[in-house]
Amino acid sequence: MADKYDVIVIGAGPAGYHAAIRCAQLGLKTACIDKSLGEDGKPAYGGTCLNWGCIPSKALLDASHKLVEARDKFADLGIKVGRVAADVPKMMEHKAAVVKQLTSGVAGLFKANGVEDLPGTGKLLANRKVEYTPHEGDSRTLEAESVILAPGSVPVEIDAAPMDGQYILDSTGALEMEKAPKTVGVIGAGVIGLELGSVWSRLGSEVVMLEALDDFLPQVDRRLAQDALRTFRKQGLDIRLGTRVTGTEVKNRKVEVSYKDKEGDQTLKVDRLIVAVGRRPFTDGLLSADCGVNLDERGFIYVNDLCVTDAPGVYAVGDVVRGPMLAHKGMEEGLMVAERITGRKPVVNYDAVPSVIYTHPEIAWVGRSEDELKRSGDACQVGSFPFAASGRALAAADAEGSVKVVTDPETDRILGMQIFGPQASELIAQAVIGMEFSASAEDFGLTMFAHPTLSEAVHEAALAVHGHAIHVASRKRNKKK
Ligand code: FAD
Ligand code: NAD
Repeated sequence: MADKYDVIVIGAGPAGYHAAIRCAQLGLKTACIDKSLGEDGKPAYGGTCLNWGCIPSKALLDASHKLVEARDKFADLGIKVGRVAADVPKMMEHKAAVVKQLTSGVAGLFKANGVEDLPGTGKLLANRKVEYTPHEGDSRTLEAESVILAPGSVPVEIDAAPMDGQYILDSTGALEMEKAPKTVGVIGAGVIGLELGSVWSRLGSEVVMLEALDDFLPQVDRRLAQDALRTFRKQGLDIRLGTRVTGTEVKNRKVEVSYKDKEGDQTLKVDRLIVAVGRRPFTDGLLSADCGVNLDERGFIYVNDLCVTDAPGVYAVGDVVRGPMLAHKGMEEGLMVAERITGRKPVVNYDAVPSVIYTHPEIAWVGRSEDELKRSGDACQVGSFPFAASGRALAAADAEGSVKVVTDPETDRILGMQIFGPQASELIAQAVIGMEFSASAEDFGLTMFAHPTLSEAVHEAALAVHGHAIHVASRKRNKKK
């Protein structure tokens, strides 16, 4: 007789563990299968995000940013610290400790909420049956009323630069280097490339980034992307756009990268090469031929807006389905599915998914940008405010960048917000909340913000939509009649 559950979740990344915990909270008998193991060989729940993604990268980004502040900025603020140096092994220890704390935390949450954790591999069979293979021991068949697939994603590999785990690394390898190599090449100037390129550049490596596209960060507002490109180049990232990597060779403990650009054939020699050209949905070994779940043409599990697959009672959430590959998007999908299984009716608002690149300054955006609206022929109004006019940003000597608010000229509703600046990751939440509540630029303008705060830049950008910003010259073209 098969073990029976109300819900089986496959994958304990952010999408899967949120789904599992919420199902258990709602009174469902829930099991969660996950195959990840930590450095100690024990189950390490939390998926890519906690083990090899969001959290370890932010531990290194925060530590390396503090190093740069202490080294290059403190003296200007009247703080003498003497010689400042990186201790990379210690940074890695800090990162590992945070990861361990959080992955054990998920195991604790499973226990506290009554989720049965099943370390090992899960495979979906027909009729909501799941083959569970523990790390040690024989497979057995489980049954459930509902199955939630949350197997996540893995790095894309390219033939021109096959990963070898020693010289040519994916993001996981790039988070684990024991010391800063003298030279680092990065293929792809996207989110991972910029974050990990920043880490190693701050820790002393010369970093060259080879990006295939001619445009830098095409998903970001053009002006902010140009500002960011200028800043990152000034910080030392050698970002080369419009380059096509044609091959790599490891010779004498160096990686020789061949690439083409406008000028013709080029070569670059680096100590380590990081490949960061995107991620792909991971479904290897997950689906039996007769399980009824279909993939789309790009290999994502095909689902509708409610994360329902083509197999009755089977859902899929997170990186393995369409939409941005972001932890918080997967978390919300996991929660939505859990609630819908128990008859509630929430939906995920895919128009208000915030994105953040954790460089310094950070880049954050939500909703639609001015360029995007113009491209689709839709009218919009914009208001901008530079951090150079923010008292708090100046006081902190961290006043680069700006906030841009985009609104509908008919209704004044906020359609999007883009920020390049200090703590953009925190500030963007204001736009997300505003958009969830259909707020207008006027609503933001009439709201009181504490002074002095960086949030005032959001307030002023909203005021600027109608030419009412106080601390910058007004933009007359948006002035209300
Ligand atoms: P995953 O986190 O990939 O988890 C899937 C889990 O399922 C894994 O543990 C996997 O081992 C397991 N699994 C897969 N198949 C099976 C199977 N058949 N049986 C059992 N277990 C299985 N996103 C952000 O929002 N913010 C960030 O700052 C951020 N930083 C990132 C930095 C890096 C370097 C990387 C690589 C990613 C980053 N991301 C970030 C993306 C984020 O990590 C992912 O969007 C998120 O982890 C996806 O969650 P998920 O639950 O869908 O899948
Ligand atoms: P990405 O799509 O952000 O960037 C990949 C970049 O590589 C693109 O600019 C692309 O044009 C370029 N590229 C692709 N093929 C190339 C080639 N052959 N040569 C040169 N350049 C090439 O992907 P990523 O940076 O690998 O990140 C993967 C996913 O992980 C993203 O979807 C992202 O959302 C997620 N992630 C999020 C965060 C965050 O939220 N802060 C951080 C890291 C990763």
